[in-house]
Amino acid sequence: MCGRHSQPLVLYCNEKSCEELACSSCVTEKHKNHIHEITDIPNKAQKIKDTMREFEKKCTQSEKCLDGKINIKKDLIEEIRITSSETIKEIDHAHDQVLQKVTKAAEELKQDVLQHQQKQLELVVEEHNQLMKRRETNIKCANLIADFLKKNDDVNIIRKSSDVQKTLDESKSSGSKAQIK
Ligand SMILES: [Zn+2]
Ligand SMILES: [Zn+2]
Repeated sequence: MCGRHSQPLVLYCNEKSCEELACSSCVTEKHKNHIHEITDIPNKAQKIKDTMREFEKKCTQSEKCLDGKINIKKDLIEEIRITSSETIKEIDHAHDQVLQKVTKAAEELKQDVLQHQQKQLELVVEEHNQLMKRRETNIKCANLIADFLKKNDDVNIIRKSSDVQKTLDESKSSGSKAQIK
């Protein structure tokens, strides 16, 4: 109801300075110069509804658009996570392979060194043993000669010298225990 005229508010003044509801009496008084700006209430309400629906439509469109963008980012986040995790796995795998190769190479190198060392050792031990045998033989020969010279007179020395030489030769070549008769 109009506060001034106690009549139903059925009109609306669109004039910038007014923008208010009006009764049919207001239109002839306060708004008499705004006659071109007067509309009925359903008309004004329809304009407001249209504006609001337009805004609502924009919001809905914007929401759909944002949903799309949000989904793209969500997919991207998942993709980055998966890629990152796969890359880490690949690095770990490559690291393991390099480690295995290095370990294998080190083992092979050690085996080579040990084999080489073993051969060298066997060779040197064999040479050492032979030198010991020769030394032993030399001592035996020297003892045999000393014993022979001690036990025989000059005649026997002359008679048996070739036998002694033979025994000494055998002893040197065989390394066996030789005795002069
Ligand atoms: Zn009025
Ligand atoms: Zn007015």
